[in-house]
Amino acid sequence: MFRRFIVAIDGPAGSGKSTSAKLVAQRLNFLYIDTGAMYRAITFLAMKNNILVDHDTVSKLAESCTMQLEFIDGNTKIHVDGDDLTSKIRSPEVNSHVSDISKIAGVREALVKKQRALAAENQGVVMEGRDIGTVVFPDADVKIYLTATIDERSFRRAKEFAEQGKKVAVESVRDNLIQRDKLDSTRAVSPLSKAQDAIEVDTSNTTIEEQVEIILQSINKKLSKASDTKY
Ligand code: C5P
Repeated sequence: MFRRFIVAIDGPAGSGKSTSAKLVAQRLNFLYIDTGAMYRAITFLAMKNNILVDHDTVSKLAESCTMQLEFIDGNTKIHVDGDDLTSKIRSPEVNSHVSDISKIAGVREALVKKQRALAAENQGVVMEGRDIGTVVFPDADVKIYLTATIDERSFRRAKEFAEQGKKVAVESVRDNLIQRDKLDSTRAVSPLSKAQDAIEVDTSNTTIEEQVEIILQSINKKLSKASDTKY
């Protein structure tokens, strides 16, 4: 057995993070943590409680709430203070507010603390987000930064909405992604950026299986340096 092994996967929305992170975690029998779900849950609650502009209250909520993440049948289930918010956090409304909530320093501080605590309970972790390799786990064993063209990312997200039975035009998905990319990468605290030692993978023209293979190869390379364990 090896010491705790952390795989950090970052990148903009629609770059293939969730799909490949889930498969990599399943393949390795590692814990999968979707940090975007945590920012989305706080955003949903801020909308519901009408406190979107009250940053102190939102920060306090992020700090005081109890969050449970479970990975069931390929999906992240999220409970906050016992309430199942899974079906509420991926709406176009949450999409349009989440970057304003995730730029609040107090919210980030509270959620990063929760992310580290969740990871601490496990031997192997695949965590995906925007700041995992730069802030949450700057010493992660493997850091991956996924990218894809805006057209490809918009198409993927519109397809996901369609699969959930929601009709959302590709153009409006594209506008939201451009807006979120801008806010996420220019915010003062923990902006979306590639860690210097991250491996960048452009997924515009790769299959999911190819993305997963590239990530597994990086992990095996790292592991073979530390031990003989192979996946
Ligand atoms: O990954 P996903 O698209 O679900 O993330 C939703 C939003 O949550 C992002 O646009 C970003 O504003 C925020 N986020 C973040 N840091 C993370 C994960 C997500 O700021 N580690």
